[in-house]
Parts: sequence; structure tokens; C-alpha cells
Amino acid sequence: MLIASKPASNPRSRSSAPSSARSAVVVGLDVGGTKTNATVLDESGVFLIDRMVETPSRVGDGPDAALEAIREVLQLVLHAAGASAEAVRAIGLDTPGPATATGVIAKRGATNFSQPAWWGFDFRTMVERDLGLPVIYNNDGNAAALYAHDQLFGADADHRSSVSAIVGTGLGGGVIESGRVIRGATGMAGELGHVQIPMHGLLGDGQPAPICNCGFVGDAESVASLSGLERNLLPYWLTKYPEHPVAALPSKEAARQIRSCAEAGDEMALKIFEQQAIAIGRLFTIAANFTDPDAYFVGGGVIEAEPHFRTWFLDSVRDATTLRVEQIEVVQFALVSDLDMAGARGSALAALHAIRP
Ligand SMILES: [Zn+2]
Repeated sequence: MLIASKPASNPRSRSSAPSSARSAVVVGLDVGGTKTNATVLDESGVFLIDRMVETPSRVGDGPDAALEAIREVLQLVLHAAGASAEAVRAIGLDTPGPATATGVIAKRGATNFSQPAWWGFDFRTMVERDLGLPVIYNNDGNAAALYAHDQLFGADADHRSSVSAIVGTGLGGGVIESGRVIRGATGMAGELGHVQIPMHGLLGDGQPAPICNCGFVGDAESVASLSGLERNLLPYWLTKYPEHPVAALPSKEAARQIRSCAEAGDEMALKIFEQQAIAIGRLFTIAANFTDPDAYFVGGGVIEAEPHFRTWFLDSVRDATTLRVEQIEVVQFALVSDLDMAGARGSALAALHAIRP
């Protein structure tokens, strides 16, 4: 059992005033490849937990083990929040994709749910039956996007729209309209990483067209992700900087070190991150002409970077986003905050939306 503690910056959270057993709450559960973390939100929209409450997710041991981990973390988080099990009205659940809009893991499996027992498995329904509570499902990118949106807009969240791009192994995120996640017919809405973007002026001289894990050529993830960096960007840039210290490393390790190189002002690393920023900016340009959102969020490892680098990266994304004059006057660019807890918190918000009249 593991309970990690980490302070959050959410001004709307509180930890010192346990809710009475009678006040209704919802629980957000973020089930990842290694950990399941949880939070509790009361019916007025206040988070009752301001730190990480998590257990090993055990998804590698299959659905039954993962369910047992959920029961454990649920007990822990309710205790930490001073809330009773009877007070819980609904559960928000998220997992990494791909999964359907109703929480069925993809038939071909998923990186974090690779065991055959998970293929096409209806995770949401299993949790709902076991806990006897309504379970509202989102993928983790959508849940984090919902949390970022709520953090920035607060009481205005239901009247605003936003797009989030979260750079990790892949490029996740989500599209929020009037405070709600756009899911689409099959749950594939907001798969921003696989939107193809113009490559003209982004690629260097002689740089091969980047290919995504999904098979698309020149989509946003093929450039703006850790896997795109390792597979497409780094091999090209190392031909321009053959003496670079990371050239001697295995490609995975080299890719991981690029961010700290960039933070230290390394020329090659900055060129790589500039390409990633341009890719996100071009994706946002498509969003500007598609849903015309109020806000553009960037999340992922860059959030944990040194402040000067974070600012430079967000500014580079903004510079690469082509907006109309009317849009420039109203839109905001921001970082996804509390990324570790964004999935659980966004899931809780989705559950609260579902039970509100
Ligand atoms: Zn793709």
C-alpha cells in the first residue's frame, strides 16, 4: 500500500474541513498503467483532498486485481476526506486510451492494458456493478482537459470552450465545449495527436516526413510526443549535430535527456522543442477554425520543466498559432496545472456534472 502526499495549487480545494456524512460527494478515479489515484469532490464543487491518494493500479494483473485496487483506494480516499461511503453519489473513472466513449477498452488492447483479458473489456460496467453506483467514464486526456478548463474558468466554466494538448509518450488531450467533454460517436473525439498538420516550414532541410505510431504521416503526435521525438526528430537532428553528447546513448535514453539539455540552452535540443511547439501551434490553428475555443492548454512533461523553459515553450506555441484579430483579443494560452491529479480531478468533475440536475 502506498499513499503519496503532494500539495496541490488548487485554491478551491480544502483539506481541513471534513464534509458531514450527510453531504453528497463524488469520487474521481484515475486508473493508470502503474497507479490508481483518487480524489473526492463535494456537491458544491470543492475538492476535499489536496494531495495524491494512490495505490498500485495492478492493471497488469488483469481486471479483477484492478478492481480490488479501486476498492482499496476508494476506502483510503473517503477516509482521508472524512466522507462516508453512503455519501457517494457517483464515480468518475478514467484510463489511458484507446477505449470507447462508454469505457470499453479497445479490442486491440492498449499500451497500459495489454493483457488479453482487457481486450474489448467493459471496465466501466464492471466498476459500476461492483460498487453499485453510477460510473462516468472519460479517457485520461479528456479528464485532464476538463480539469484544466474548470481551473481556469471556475464559475464561468459552463459558458466557455477550450482545447488541450498534453505531450507524453503520445499526444493526448481533449476538446471542451460549454464546460463538457466532446466525446463523439465512438469516443474518439479529441484525439488531437492524430490530426494531420501542415509540415511545410516545420521540417528542416532534408528532414524525412515524420510517421506516427498510428500509421499517419505528419500528424501532430509524429512530432509533438516523446515517441515522435525518439523516432522522427532525434535521428534527423543527430545527423546535423553528430558530436552531441546524447548521440552515444540508446535512443530511448537520449530522447529522455533532451528536455534537460533544452533547459540548459542546448542548441539542438531547442531546435527539437521548437519543432514540437510549432506542431502544437499548427494543431491549435486547426482548432481555431474548427471550434474557435476560448483557451488553449499545453500539458505534459513541459510543465515540470524550469520556469524559463516552460514560458519559452508556451510562447513558441502561441507564436505558431495563427489566429484572427478578433480571436487574439479574447483567447488565453495556459498550462495544465496539477498534472498528476488532473485525471482524477477531471473525472470527479465529470461525475458531478452527471448527477447535477
Ligand atoms: Zn497518429
